[in-house]
Amino acid sequence: MKLLEDKIKRDGLILGDDILKVDSFITHQIDIELMKAIGQRLATVYTENKITKVVTIEASGIAPAIYAADFLHVPLVFAKKSKNVTLTDELLTTEVFSFTKKVTSTVSISHKYLSPEDNILIVDDFLANGQAASGLVDIIQQAQSNIAGVGIVIEKSFQDGRKLLQDKGLQVTALTRIGKFENRQINFLEADDA
Ligand code: 5GP
Repeated sequence: MKLLEDKIKRDGLILGDDILKVDSFITHQIDIELMKAIGQRLATVYTENKITKVVTIEASGIAPAIYAADFLHVPLVFAKKSKNVTLTDELLTTEVFSFTKKVTSTVSISHKYLSPEDNILIVDDFLANGQAASGLVDIIQQAQSNIAGVGIVIEKSFQDGRKLLQDKGLQVTALTRIGKFENRQINFLEADDA
């Protein structure tokens, strides 16, 4: 997605060897127009798939997922990372290791929001080693819902996430794919929606 690549080139910051900071437009301050375009693009790719729900994980997956769900006219369900006293329903849970926080947390979705009739589009902001997306896959499979695909805003293709998901038989749609960081520059691969 050219618009997104241009924005990443202009406003993304490379931290260390493998982190891209996008807090001025995705993970802290949100560029609403860009996010709408991202959501629309993901929705367009899956428009024929009869998606019934979009599923993401809090927090920064929520913004792109909202717009994808909006364009698909379906609800958005997000997995919660901390147990809350208001979460009294039967929970589907799994463990997810966070690439950026380096901690493992239990994430959950109420069973009542996923059923075997659901056809799910997973959406997340980044795909790195695939732990967050795999955690969502695990929860969705516990509910026996179908997974139509995984929509990703930024894939770091030099990490293992894509392979992990494809080995599970899942379709991955990344709007931008970063091949490598080289001399503080970002090298993009051809995106899946091109
Ligand atoms: P994975 O679980 O695929 O290893 O990592 C994906 C999750 O870690 C995403 O939900 C995202 O929150 C975070 N993440 C991974 N890599 C980056 C990165 O380079 N920058 C930012 N801002 N978040 C990342």
